[in-house]
Amino acid sequence: MSKVNTVLGAISPEELGIVAVHEHIGYGMPGSELDTQWWKTPEEHYEATVPKLRRFREYGGGTFVDVTGICNGRDVDYYKSLSAKTGVNIVACTGFVGGDTALPFFARASVDYLRRQFVHEITEGIGDTGSRAGVIKVGVSRGGRMTELDKRIYRAAARAAVTTGVPILTHLAIDPQPAVDIFAEEGLPLNRVLFGHADDGPNAPNTPHEWIFGQGGRIGFDTFGYETEIEDPPFWARPRQERLEHFINLVHKGYLDQLLVSADANCSPLGWPGVKGHTVNYLFEDLVPDLRDAGMDEASITTLFEDNPADFLTMRT
Ligand SMILES: [Zn+2]
Repeated sequence: MSKVNTVLGAISPEELGIVAVHEHIGYGMPGSELDTQWWKTPEEHYEATVPKLRRFREYGGGTFVDVTGICNGRDVDYYKSLSAKTGVNIVACTGFVGGDTALPFFARASVDYLRRQFVHEITEGIGDTGSRAGVIKVGVSRGGRMTELDKRIYRAAARAAVTTGVPILTHLAIDPQPAVDIFAEEGLPLNRVLFGHADDGPNAPNTPHEWIFGQGGRIGFDTFGYETEIEDPPFWARPRQERLEHFINLVHKGYLDQLLVSADANCSPLGWPGVKGHTVNYLFEDLVPDLRDAGMDEASITTLFEDNPADFLTMRT
């Protein structure tokens, strides 16, 4: 049976609905649980998060993919209660945002140890939550070049993806040659990989979009909404119109089926203030209207928000 793991159990791809494929309930750097400046009580996190997920549901959103890695504040019991409260399917991940966010315990581990960790979280469950991971997160460390640890994590992720059929989602799409080599060596078809953050300010000019498409890979325009026009833009912001034109240009070149979109927003950030006003609902409030204004038809919008993520997230062994 075709299925996707959510924190409340496996569902069929038809039940996913509209998907936000790269989001965060709350993301923080390792150690942010000890932060005193930005620390919030569990009640404060709920108060910040529940209205955003309810709004997401009201707009017709079906599934929220949380790609907060193992050491970045992932909290699966919390996700379960949010999903039950709001009716939004939440997919949790295994893996790491990048080698530079893996704590030393994991940073020193072998490929085989990491592979077993990922497979266990996908097939048995994450900790004692009983929830199984639905995607594997990997990433390129700060500096823009894959480190030895990044490569170890990518190889372990590739092996876990081949065994379990769960897809891989990357943080950053720069320096993709070593990643593509590893996936090929491990026998993972590149349509099981979403190269993320290919659209943000610093990374877009350094990402070989068409080269990745040419190998069969998928590309994430998943930082929509981080715009230079907002009040306090982060360093990865990009002019709104420039990103939109870049995206539409790739659609016109025929790559619609290999594109996925998301907002990479935090419902309630951990250990940092977050980016004011930016939420997952940017997708409904700004992106869909922008796409319509740019001439995208309803069938293509459905492909982008429903069919492509369902095809990507469905476990394939
Ligand atoms: Zn992210």
